Amino acid sequence: MGKFIQDFTLHTHTVGFDGHNTVQEMAEKASSMGFSTIGISNHFIVHPEIKRSRFYSSALQRGYDAIYSESFDQAMERFQPHYEEIEKIQKFSRIRILRGMEVDFFEDEKWFASFERAIKILKPDYIIGSSHFVYYDGYLCNVHDINNADACTGDGMLQMYWDKVRTVAESGLFTWMAHLDLPKKLGLGREDKWRAAESRAVKAIADTKTGIEINTGLYAPDIYEPYPSERILKQVAEHDIPVLISDDSHKIEQIGRHFDEAAEFAQKCGVDNFMNLQKILDFSKETI
Ligand SMILES: [Zn+2]
Ligand SMILES: [Zn+2]
Repeated sequence: MGKFIQDFTLHTHTVGFDGHNTVQEMAEKASSMGFSTIGISNHFIVHPEIKRSRFYSSALQRGYDAIYSESFDQAMERFQPHYEEIEKIQKFSRIRILRGMEVDFFEDEKWFASFERAIKILKPDYIIGSSHFVYYDGYLCNVHDINNADACTGDGMLQMYWDKVRTVAESGLFTWMAHLDLPKKLGLGREDKWRAAESRAVKAIADTKTGIEINTGLYAPDIYEPYPSERILKQVAEHDIPVLISDDSHKIEQIGRHFDEAAEFAQKCGVDNFMNLQKILDFSKETI
């Protein structure tokens, strides 16, 4: 971490979900890098059909099926001991450790009521909204499935993806939105024709006073940029939407990755409204 304005990192994953290191290891590493605070935000993904989604078998093969729950009871069984562990580790830690979650929102009254009940019990410090799934043609589809679809279906799914992002924002449940243009990891959605759909999603985010992250998980030699792309981040800046930088780390080596580049990228796009930690915690107190 260079001389950077953000001394916290709040989008991280650990062992027991789809991360590779323990909470303790993540906290120690972040502390040694000079961060004052780390937040652990494992996936909270609950849907009765989740194990029937096309993507589930490949998640199973790659060994990260532990992030998917068919019921809220199942998700609570994972999160309650996990949060208790964080509290225990916090007692002996030099760094502040927050309890977050990265949630897939599903538009369904039953889901909504159960989720509200769950967060009343778990009391997370903040909640990240994300959209890894769309409901297409009667099936629950992961963003990865768009790549296997024919062009026509693929476009329909991408349209649904952006509509879903808008719906996630409109729920007003989330502190900030994760990796806005997630399909970009498959090289999808880069054409100009997606601008209108992106704009509608950004407007919903602004209207609900939700933040967004610059997610540095995408930086790779072939796509040297974060989520979201420049054209989206410029709109985010125009709407004065608060922004923070996330590494979406799944192991200690990824903590704080490309934060300096992300800060430069933010500046280039005209972002000057950065989320500070106190604001994030205040926001959560009001809503959770
Ligand atoms: Zn994610
Ligand atoms: Zn994540």
